[in-house]
Amino acid sequence: MPNPNTRRGLLIILSSPSGAGKSTLARRLMEWDPTLKFSVSATTRAPRAGEEDGVHYHFMNESRFKSAVVDGGMLEHAHVFGNFYGSPLAPVREAIEAGNDVLFDIDWQGAQQIKTSALRDHVLSIFVLPPSISELRRRLVSRGQDTSDVIQKRMQKSWDEISHWDGYDYVLINDDLDASFERLKTIVEAERLRQPQQPGLVDFVRGLHAEFEEGER
Ligand code: ADP
Ligand code: 5GP
Repeated sequence: MPNPNTRRGLLIILSSPSGAGKSTLARRLMEWDPTLKFSVSATTRAPRAGEEDGVHYHFMNESRFKSAVVDGGMLEHAHVFGNFYGSPLAPVREAIEAGNDVLFDIDWQGAQQIKTSALRDHVLSIFVLPPSISELRRRLVSRGQDTSDVIQKRMQKSWDEISHWDGYDYVLINDDLDASFERLKTIVEAERLRQPQQPGLVDFVRGLHAEFEEGER
């Protein structure tokens, strides 16, 4: 019997202004479903304390990054905060063909490129908004990762990112973290049932039809 549970992977994109909580939500989602693959981006920015090459990012110089783009090795790429960032294509293809979802923590420019790529039918895009601008600043400060100059730069860029909220399939206002995470799980669970995500349905319904023809006519 054909397996109706065969599924194709989703490309789950999370974007937000820096500090709204997308990395925290992404981490929780990965803990909830360990089959999710995180898309490790390539970047030309320097590693921060505690960041590991190949785990948080693939750190590379500008010439290597640009060669990868020219060779068609990036699903999308963008210039963010003065550095290049991009999502390597090969691991994404491999994961979704094996039926695993891929999680992207990328900005609106990358989201737009993936939404117009050959993989667009399998995209689920979610934008995370902060409950207020003052809370966004408080979170950036309390994260304790950046100098006040960098925080200022991120705050200045935040409106640029927020202004693209309406290009996403879903929007989460990340006020209470637990509640936001529950909503995020609901979205992912429903989207996994979208018809293009279940290629096994065609054979399954064919089987139902054969049975119907045999027994009910
Ligand atoms: P982003 O990845 O969007 O830049 P982070 O996930 O790093 O943001 O979150 C920024 C800070 O805010 C972190 O210290 C995180 O623990 C905290 N945070 C995330 N979501 C919430 C929330 N709903 N309420 C309070 N603090 C939060
Ligand atoms: P950070 O330097 O703080 O890790 O990331 C800065 C910004 O770059 C974040 O908004 C993040 O979502 C975005 N970003 C990270 N990786 C990628 C990527 O591969 N492509 C795009 N377009 N943006 C990325």
